[in-house]
Amino acid sequence: MRPEEIEDVKRRFRRKVIGNLIAVVMGAPPSFVLVEAATGNSAILGAHSLASIIASVVVVVAAAVFVVVNWRCPWCGGGFGSAIYPPTCPHCTAKLR
Ligand SMILES: [Zn+2]
Repeated sequence: MRPEEIEDVKRRFRRKVIGNLIAVVMGAPPSFVLVEAATGNSAILGAHSLASIIASVVVVVAAAVFVVVNWRCPWCGGGFGSAIYPPTCPHCTAKLR
């Protein structure tokens, strides 16, 4: 791997981390709606309409799918699994940060 390729992998990994953070931040409020709806507790966010529950499911599923698809090595495409912020790729050992 050439030095410019190493820097490119690191830059693309940083973009993936930021993308995942945005997906998690966007998915958090609707997941609270789903927890409240599932538990019948509306003390914090108030009553939930069927439309808000369906919209919440769509946003949470979309965020989860994005994170799973996005969380791959920019060099070899291998998945990172549940690793939160790996220093290297577990498949090709590319330095990610
Ligand atoms: Zn890799």
